[in-house]
Amino acid sequence: MTRLLIAGPPGSGKGTQAHRLSEKLGIPEISTGDMFRSHLSDQTPLGNQAKKYLDAGDLVPDHITTAMVRERLQQDDTGNGFLLDGYPRTLSQMENLDGILESSGKTLDAVLEVTADDDEIVRRLLLRSRAEGRSDDTESVIRHRLQLYREETQPVIARYGRRGILVSVDGTADVDHVTASALKGIETVKARTAT
Ligand code: ADP
Repeated sequence: MTRLLIAGPPGSGKGTQAHRLSEKLGIPEISTGDMFRSHLSDQTPLGNQAKKYLDAGDLVPDHITTAMVRERLQQDDTGNGFLLDGYPRTLSQMENLDGILESSGKTLDAVLEVTADDDEIVRRLLLRSRAEGRSDDTESVIRHRLQLYREETQPVIARYGRRGILVSVDGTADVDHVTASALKGIETVKARTAT
């Protein structure tokens, strides 16, 4: 049983690590970015509401995002843990998540931060935009998403750090190495907080 969050700037390799960790730990991956993109391609009402924010690299308003996460965390497959990717991104989302977990008597085991420097991030995302054609992977939108990450999300990570459950790994290392360091760090934090 592991309840895990994964955070990291766009392009840090967070998505790749999220796939691998959810498989290795046998827990569902809940990516708010993927959920929004699937609503968008299905043209659901939620997708239509979220579209302009995604295209601009802006955060989708909290009431939409938090409702979507709350509902997802109530589904049965999260009974054995989960890996939440891309949420919370702001201090107010962090407070909302605390409330959601508290009301179901759950706590987080660990928060994994995947780090990467800005130049590497921009380089990787421009490559990805050519391969995948994500509409938010243009240079100016990338820089905006990075700035939001620094301003809004880093304070969230710092606060989890003060709670003693943060694990940071270097996302520019070899992919297997990043996964191995992450798993080791998660075990260490779990062992420490269990005592
Ligand atoms: P990134 O590669 O920028 O980390 P994601 O796939 O996690 O991308 O998210 C893509 C977009 O989805 C974000 O730019 C934002 O518009 C929206 N989004 C995802 N998670 C959240 C969230 N927690 N709060 C608000 N908007 C979000």
